[in-house]
Amino acid sequence: MNRTKLEQWIPSDASPSSGEVLVATQIEHPVRGQMACPAADLVGASLRRHGLSVSYGAIVAGGPGGPGAEAGIVSYLDRDGSPSGLGAVPCPGDPHSRRLVAEVMNGWSAVLRTRRLILDTTPAVCTGQQEVLRLVDEVAAPGTYVAGPSGTDPGTQDDLQRQGVVFGADPGDVPAGATLVIPASGIDPGSAERAARRGLRIVDGTCPWVRRAQDEVRFRHADHDELIVVIGPEDVRCRSSILSQAARTVPVSRPADVAGLRPADPAAVSYVVTPGCSVEAILPVIAALRARFPALRGPHPDGWCYAATDRLLAIRAAVAFADLVLVCGAAGSADAQRVARVAGERGARVELISAAGDIRPEWLAGASTVAILRSVSASPGLPEAVCAALHGLGPASTVRRGVASMPGPAGRLPAQPLNVMPARTVCG
Ligand code: SF4
Repeated sequence: MNRTKLEQWIPSDASPSSGEVLVATQIEHPVRGQMACPAADLVGASLRRHGLSVSYGAIVAGGPGGPGAEAGIVSYLDRDGSPSGLGAVPCPGDPHSRRLVAEVMNGWSAVLRTRRLILDTTPAVCTGQQEVLRLVDEVAAPGTYVAGPSGTDPGTQDDLQRQGVVFGADPGDVPAGATLVIPASGIDPGSAERAARRGLRIVDGTCPWVRRAQDEVRFRHADHDELIVVIGPEDVRCRSSILSQAARTVPVSRPADVAGLRPADPAAVSYVVTPGCSVEAILPVIAALRARFPALRGPHPDGWCYAATDRLLAIRAAVAFADLVLVCGAAGSADAQRVARVAGERGARVELISAAGDIRPEWLAGASTVAILRSVSASPGLPEAVCAALHGLGPASTVRRGVASMPGPAGRLPAQPLNVMPARTVCG
């Protein structure tokens, strides 16, 4: 690719307003013809970081041009011979603007190369949460309260809040006559009963996997007067709604916790897996329980949710050989931080971005493989937009990589992941 790279200053037809730089979204080049500029946003954001005011538009280079309106252009030929490039026209007669444009163009030109882009295609938002968001969208109006966080990107959350939706509501504080949306993680039975008695319109978004675990606790185990061990980390939201289904439940997060259990009858111990946690993490706990309580009873693994497992494996698969990992999401998002933490386990450079323009050229120096991950807080389409922008920095190969577990009876795999669930109940 570097053999075809051209760095030039060429007169152009552009006439940026005073104090402004025009960034090319397309260039009519005198030798290479029509050139796409997929990385225009990256150039524009760099110029803004230098304090310049930026506008975008198509330019004709080598044309008549305004007085002194020169375009700084970097171009190259893609694998199929088609030209691509970067271009910016500083304000004529402004040496400061021209110097900064040259600096920015040199910075991006230095990182033009052939590279692989590994695009994570595993959904960041699980099907249970997607269903709740669909429900909330359906009933969004002033007087709609959701008993949990939004679990979506800031843009979608703002949009729903503008329609009057309140997230993170305590069911006990929801005013009479209002609509209460139960989140995918469920709520405790006492709160649900009180809400129903107060005449709230209840939209039940409890994820079927969570409901199945709740039912396990209530009917299958509690009726047998067993000690029910609820396996799962504390930060998995549905754990408390599952624990609250019966009196004789006890949470266990790690294998080491098993030694502390004091059941009245060691032969009457059963367990329930908290949906939403990684299967990798719970298997050692089940093994420790079985070693200590040989008569242990538990649910069939067909009933386990693999959403968290798939996400974890997808992150690890995407970053396996990456030199740079771009995590798409909001800076303050706990989910984005968690994705970044997992992505950094193998030592690659990890950067959190909320827009393609956040990418800095110095991150890409020497990066032949870039992984692009999505977090729950990523605005819709951002990972794909990042991928498209990076295609403007040299011939790129995009590898879409995702993980989808399909649990089911042996030899009869379901046509789609088991995480795709039936519709929920709406009552009230
Ligand atoms: S059980 Fe699985 S699909 Fe349901 S909300 Fe939890 S993580 Fe999502």
